Amino acid sequence: MTAAGWEAVIGLEIHVQLATATKMFCRCPNRFGDAPNTNVCPVCLAHPGMLPVPNEEAVRQSIRVGLALGCRVPERSEFSRKNYFYPDSPKAYQITQFDRPICAEGSFHVPAPGGGFEVGITRAHLEEDAAKMIHAGGDRGRIAGSAGSVVDFNRVGTPLLEIVTEPDLRSAEDARRFLNLLRATIVAIGASDCDMEKGSLRCDANVSVRRVGEDGYRTKTELKNMNSFRFLERGITAEIERQIGLYEAGAVVPQETLHFDPSTGRISSLRSKEEAHDYRYFPEPDLVPVEPSAALLAELAASLPELPAARTERLAAAYGLPEQTAELFALDQELGDWYEELAAQVADPRAAANWVANELSGHLNATGLRPRESPITPARLAPLLALVADGTLGSAGARQAFAAMIEHPERDAAATVEALGLAQVADEGALARTIDAVIAAHPDEVERYRGGRTQLIGFFVGQAMKASEGRAEPKAVQRLLRERLDATD
Ligand code: ADP
Ligand code: ZN
Ligand code: MG
Repeated sequence: MTAAGWEAVIGLEIHVQLATATKMFCRCPNRFGDAPNTNVCPVCLAHPGMLPVPNEEAVRQSIRVGLALGCRVPERSEFSRKNYFYPDSPKAYQITQFDRPICAEGSFHVPAPGGGFEVGITRAHLEEDAAKMIHAGGDRGRIAGSAGSVVDFNRVGTPLLEIVTEPDLRSAEDARRFLNLLRATIVAIGASDCDMEKGSLRCDANVSVRRVGEDGYRTKTELKNMNSFRFLERGITAEIERQIGLYEAGAVVPQETLHFDPSTGRISSLRSKEEAHDYRYFPEPDLVPVEPSAALLAELAASLPELPAARTERLAAAYGLPEQTAELFALDQELGDWYEELAAQVADPRAAANWVANELSGHLNATGLRPRESPITPARLAPLLALVADGTLGSAGARQAFAAMIEHPERDAAATVEALGLAQVADEGALARTIDAVIAAHPDEVERYRGGRTQLIGFFVGQAMKASEGRAEPKAVQRLLRERLDATD
C-alpha cells in the first residue's frame, strides 16, 4: 500500500530475447546454455570488414508482438548505432533503433478486478543483445569487489525487442500484473520463452511519486535489471517508500539509476544523471530501412493466436468462471488448453474449473510437472467428476481417488473407486449402524442436543462422516441423525 495522499508513477522498459534460430545480424545459433564462446563468428565478434544481414524472422516476430500490443507499425523503420565502449560490445556500438522504431504508439488492456486498466506502449524497437560478462570471485556476481571478469560472446548479437511503456502504471502490483500479462502474451505468440532465469526477459522500472491529484510528473529514478517478478514488485515498493520518505522529510529525489538488492531489501545508487552517457546515435550505414508491406502486416496480424487478455474474458463468459480462475488458465496456455479439453467432457465446467485450479494445480506445483506431463489427463478426470456429480463420490472420496489415480495411471476412475471402496454409503442399513454407534458414544452431547442445543447437529454429522471415513453421503447422514435425535422416546 502506498502512503495516504501519495500515488506512484511507473513506466517499464522490458527487453525480450526473441526465440529465433539464429542471431540478429549473423547466422550463429541463438541458443542459451552452450559452452562459452562457441556460437560466434567474424560478424558478431566484429572483425574488420564484416557486414550485418538482418534476420527476417526477428523482424516478423517483432511486428507480431507490436500488433498484439496494439501498436502502429510504421511504413519505414531504421537501424541506428548507439556508441559506447565496454567489453560486452566488440563493435564498441550496439545496432539498435532510435527515432524510427519498428512499432510505436500502442495501447494494451490489462484485465483486473474492477474492469482493468490501459497501459500505453511508447515504442517497441529491435536491437542486438550485448555479450554476457561474468564477474568472478566477488560479491554474488557483481563487478564491485570481483577478482576479474570474463566475457561470453554467445549472447552478443541475440535479437532483442525492447518494449517501453508510458508512465501509466500506478502501483507495484499493477506493474507485476501488466508484466505477467505481457509475458503470457509474448509466450502465446511464440516470439520468446520470456524465461527470466535465462535472461530472455529483463525489466527496468522507472519510478516516481506524486501527491494524489497533482498534475505532471516528478523526477524519476530507474531500477535496473530486476531478475524476477517478485523482486520487481518488492524493488518498486521499496523505491516508492524511499521517495515518499524523502519528500516528507523536505528533501528532493535526485535523478539516478539504482540497484535493488533482494537479499537485503536495500537500494543503492549505480550512477547519477551527471554520469549519463552520450551515445552519439547515428543511422546505421550498413543496413537498409525496414519497410513492411501492407500484405505482410495483414499476414502477420492473421497469424496471431487468441491472446491471453481475450482468453480471460472468453473463459469467464463461456464457462461462468470467476475472473481469477479464468486468468489462471489464460495466462498459462497449456493449463488453459487442458482445462478446455476437460470442460468439453463434463456436465459442470465451473465445478471442473475448481478441480483444475485446486487439485490439479496443487499436484503440478508439488511435482514440478507441466499439465501435459501429469498422469492425470482430461479424459481420466472427466469420469471422476461424473461420479461426483451423480452422488457416487463425496468430495473427500473424490480427492482420495484423484490422489490414487496419480499413483496408478493404469486405473481409470471407476476402477480406482472400486479398488479403494470409495463409493458413498447410501445404503441405509450400513449408515444406520454407523449413526447408532455415534449416538451411543456421545450421551452427553445427545442430552444437550435434546435440551435445545440443536446446533450440535454439525458435531454429530462430523463424527458420522469421520466414522465412515468420508464415505457417507452427508445429506442422508443429516436426515437419519435428525430422525434419531428428534425422536422423543
Ligand atoms: P529517459 O529520457 O530517461 O530515457 P524517457 O522519457 O525516455 O526517459 O522514459 C523512459 C521510461 O521512463 C519510460 O518507460 C517512461 O514511461 C518512464 N517515465 C518517464 N517519466 C517518468 C516519471 N516521471 N515517472 C515514472 N516513470 C517515468
Ligand atoms: Zn555470429
Ligand atoms: Mg528514453
